[in-house]
Amino acid sequence: MKIFKEPKKLQKWCAAQKLAGKKIALVPTMGYLHEGHLSLIEKAKKKGADEIVVSVFVNPVQFGPGEDYEKYPRDEKADLAKCRAAGATAIFFPTPANMYLDCHSVYVCEEDLSKGLCGARRPGHFRGVCTVVAKLFNLTHPDFAVFGQKDYQQVQVIKRMVRDLNFDLDIVMAPIVREPSGLARSSRNTYLSAEEKEKALAISKNLLSLKASFSSGSRTTRRPSLATVAANIEKAGLRLDYLSCVDAKTLEPRKTVAKGCCVLVAAYDGKTRLIDNVLI
Ligand code: AMP
Repeated sequence: MKIFKEPKKLQKWCAAQKLAGKKIALVPTMGYLHEGHLSLIEKAKKKGADEIVVSVFVNPVQFGPGEDYEKYPRDEKADLAKCRAAGATAIFFPTPANMYLDCHSVYVCEEDLSKGLCGARRPGHFRGVCTVVAKLFNLTHPDFAVFGQKDYQQVQVIKRMVRDLNFDLDIVMAPIVREPSGLARSSRNTYLSAEEKEKALAISKNLLSLKASFSSGSRTTRRPSLATVAANIEKAGLRLDYLSCVDAKTLEPRKTVAKGCCVLVAAYDGKTRLIDNVLI
């Protein structure tokens, strides 16, 4: 597995692979890798990538003031070993200084899909995400890039950026990988105490039972309302940041949950902000 720290070197290597006719997949991450991330590498393999480039970069530009940029968990050595074992062929560990040169002054802003949900709660977040992802696309020129449904809004925003800025690549979305308890895997789960982890289950439990109530053959199951889902999450001791039902394509709010919607939650468990969602 190739290891790159310098953007220029990665760019040169990727260009050479392309010239040699290789199919390149990009898997952007912030590291502290878990099975959710590894499923994206697996997806890239299944889709026939010859070269799978995993980027590991805690991108300062997508964190707001008072968020967890400084304390975000990092473990380069473990990430290397996991990528190697999972079959990545290159890993990119840039530093903030070589991603953002002095006087960096160009940013990418998506102005529609990033308005609500996490975009409303974390001003500037998607500007940071779009900027770093655009840079990674320009460095690697992948045939496709794999993102997780865990960050559903992010996938939609990136797809729009690709469409509107004419990036020549496909965006592939991989399903949410959960712990056996149902909790969506996240690097931030490491912040949770045993008690907080228990409380966090209210999120996945309520979202998954809402989704199950829409599956065929469950006509006898009572369909929980969004208000009930919200109340259950708060009753468990979490603080809701938002609970929203939106059209899965446009992210426009929908009053009633129905097929073609995505129901998304962001909630604080103590100081930790957790997100999860289900597609109906
Ligand atoms: P992060 O390192 O949290 O920025 O995530 C990097 C990529 O991994 C994003 O595309 C995430 O959506 C994806 N990801 C994170 N957690 C999961 C999960 N539990 N299941 C599937 N994909 C995930």
